[in-house]
Amino acid sequence: MNEEKREKTQCLIIGSGPAGYTAAIYAARADLKPMMYQGLQPGGQLTTTTEVENYPGYPDGTQGPQMMEDFKKQAERFETDIRWGLITEIDLSKRPFVAKADDGKTIEAETVIIATGASARWIGLPSEAEYNGYGVSACATCDGYFYRGKVVAVVGGGDTAAEEATYLAKLCKKVYLIHRRDELRASKAMQNRVFHTKNIEVLWNKVPKEITGEKEGFAKKVTGVTLTDTKTGEESRVDIDGLFVAIGHTPNSDLFKGQLNMNETGYVKTAPDSTATNIPGVFAAGDVQDHVYRQAITAAGTGCMAAIEAERFLSAQE
Ligand code: NAP
Repeated sequence: MNEEKREKTQCLIIGSGPAGYTAAIYAARADLKPMMYQGLQPGGQLTTTTEVENYPGYPDGTQGPQMMEDFKKQAERFETDIRWGLITEIDLSKRPFVAKADDGKTIEAETVIIATGASARWIGLPSEAEYNGYGVSACATCDGYFYRGKVVAVVGGGDTAAEEATYLAKLCKKVYLIHRRDELRASKAMQNRVFHTKNIEVLWNKVPKEITGEKEGFAKKVTGVTLTDTKTGEESRVDIDGLFVAIGHTPNSDLFKGQLNMNETGYVKTAPDSTATNIPGVFAAGDVQDHVYRQAITAAGTGCMAAIEAERFLSAQE
């Protein structure tokens, strides 16, 4: 490889959600002159939501995409070198770590902060994409509040679906839990909570066929969901105001497979109370290493931790 074409950085940040931008702000203010590759979806999962009301500092709430724009501006203010593009290859076997980007650049990085996030799994229906952010959501903690006193459905049968259904049951008039089999995958404790919550009704052996709604100019809202019975093929319909898809998340960690320790579903393992991975100088923050909380604020918190740890790591090397 032509050495002259290589760029060097003290800190390469991969990914641009709340974890990546917060890491950038802290790393830049510690004078690490971080370089960020934003990834496939600049701004991350929050760019697919509408209102965000649970992030401290926005007393009147804000829009997800606007919030990520604010994060980006703050990172730029401290001169983070933010690049549009993807890291396509990375060699973490020795320092400096060597990454290749899809803009043809090769980067030598003294430290790497992985903030590539996770992607919610979607059912894959065209109507699901059409109403995404307008009644279809993959996060009850983020969007449940908008459905107070209304009727919603949760799709899935795992712990996330059970947890979201019980969370929503406290806010909503009625919650349908739509599951494709006749038993839940969720832990027994979570199942008990579902079965003992009066306003949750489980619709067994059902999968959504189409989400229906109303459109008025740019405004859209969900009004119902058509279901197919997985055993009989029969169709039915329930009227709902919102649909929460809770069929799992996939951490965006493929790039690091075989190099970083991960759990069985691909979440990067970090040391307790730390963002350190199994490779010294490589840190992971946000949803790529967190399948429990998955909130913007917790992602931002671990982004801050990663930058502080990267700075301390570099100081210790001197
Ligand atoms: P999960 O355990 O993989 O469950 C996904 C659920 O979605 C399953 O019930 C699955 O059905 C269903 N599903 C998958 N694809 C579908 C599709 N295309 N259409 C309809 N349904 C579909 O995912 P998760 O619930 O997000 O949990 C992930 C991990 O985090 C688990 O290890 C879980 O225990 C953990 N977790 C723990 C907690 C907690 O301890 N408080 C909370 C949340 C998550 P089948 O059952 O038929 O496969």
